[in-house]
Amino acid sequence: MSNIVSNWENSESFAKKLDQNDSLKTYREHFHMPTFTKNPIIYYTGNSLGLQPKSTKSYINQELDDWAKWGVEGHFYAKNPWMPYHELLAKKTAKIVGAKESEVAVTHSLTTNLHLLMVSFYRPTKSRFKILCEKKAFPSDQYALQSQAQFHGYNPEECIVEISPREGEKLIRTDDIINKVQELGESLSMIMIGGVNYFSGQVFEMEKITKAGHKVGAIVGFDLAHAAGNIVLELNKWDVDFAAWCTYKYLNSGPGGVSGYYINEKHVTNPSILRFAGWWGHDKSNRFEMPDKFKPIPTAESWQLSNAPVISMAAHLASLDIFDEIGMKALREKSEKLTAYQEFVINDVNNKTGGNLEIITPKNPKDRGCQLSIVAHGYGKKLFDEISEKGVVADWREPNVIRIAPVPLYNNYEDAYRFGQILKNALS
Ligand SMILES: *Cc1c(COP(=O)(O)O)cnc(C)c1O
Repeated sequence: MSNIVSNWENSESFAKKLDQNDSLKTYREHFHMPTFTKNPIIYYTGNSLGLQPKSTKSYINQELDDWAKWGVEGHFYAKNPWMPYHELLAKKTAKIVGAKESEVAVTHSLTTNLHLLMVSFYRPTKSRFKILCEKKAFPSDQYALQSQAQFHGYNPEECIVEISPREGEKLIRTDDIINKVQELGESLSMIMIGGVNYFSGQVFEMEKITKAGHKVGAIVGFDLAHAAGNIVLELNKWDVDFAAWCTYKYLNSGPGGVSGYYINEKHVTNPSILRFAGWWGHDKSNRFEMPDKFKPIPTAESWQLSNAPVISMAAHLASLDIFDEIGMKALREKSEKLTAYQEFVINDVNNKTGGNLEIITPKNPKDRGCQLSIVAHGYGKKLFDEISEKGVVADWREPNVIRIAPVPLYNNYEDAYRFGQILKNALS
């Protein structure tokens, strides 16, 4: 990457040249770019809500039309029959997270899935009950962990161990995580960390963390809300125990869209792993004979409680088909370059405006996704309001962080250049 950077320029013509040479450039046209801003938009919040693929409407309309035409018989006779509809998502999802098809399913919502997974995988005992998570985890994850601890009769403060950056640092060192795992040793029941930290954009070294956790006998799970569709994942290869993610961020499935989850194959059919059960997890061959006794499907589907939310799934499928066409490897390649160019532009602006900007996201492209978290020292929210006024849709986090997400599917190098110009004008 560094020898590319050496001949980069912070100019409109150079940005346009990068766009011309971008093999994924046409995908921007596959998405609806919002039109609500007074000035031309730079949509940099795909990490909160991904944009709508133009194809989504037809995917949803297909199901609405089949519902109109078939009523309940759509479960069998819709173009994409609703009974097995969720199976359309599993294969494509498995590729995105690096899992076997039998290890993933898509349904419910993220926090719901985290709880369902913890019911199975957080099984504290008197001597082994601790949970290791990152400090400043997303609030919903914190609440989920706290309530799980309480549910099992533990005081969250004694149970939950948070790992934080060292004094004066912004990122959490992998060595510190691993040392903490070793220190907790046999008292550690579960590690539950975000694959990519939502605040700093730091990618955690999931393979190493998993290995360290297993070494002391702990279960290792990840919240991949900011990782799925953003970075290349190899959950099966890394031997991760469980994971879950939402699909409305980088996976563009629309507000409140369905969530995906992964359960390692070694656990899926293990009868000693308990789960909360519902009829959609029951053996498909006799589900409608309404038997009294639950017989789990021998895949991750057996954690599904309810029948498939087909309309939400249709929206998700529209986006999954785009991911399937491109593949995570090619997408990540562009992502690393686009984010690096945005970083280059910001650094150039910073050099010319007094040097008050600090990017707290890791500098090495491998250690971050398509996000940059910028601290503007001495500026506060006013700077954010000014760039918003000029068409930048970004995210503000107290006390002083502007988060931007140059998403490789629909953002381009010209966005990165224009963002720099807007920032420069606001700073000077
Ligand atoms: C976005 C996000 C959530 C949101 O949870 P929902 O159940 O989908 O509302 C949870 N955790 C993390 C880490 C997130 O980034």
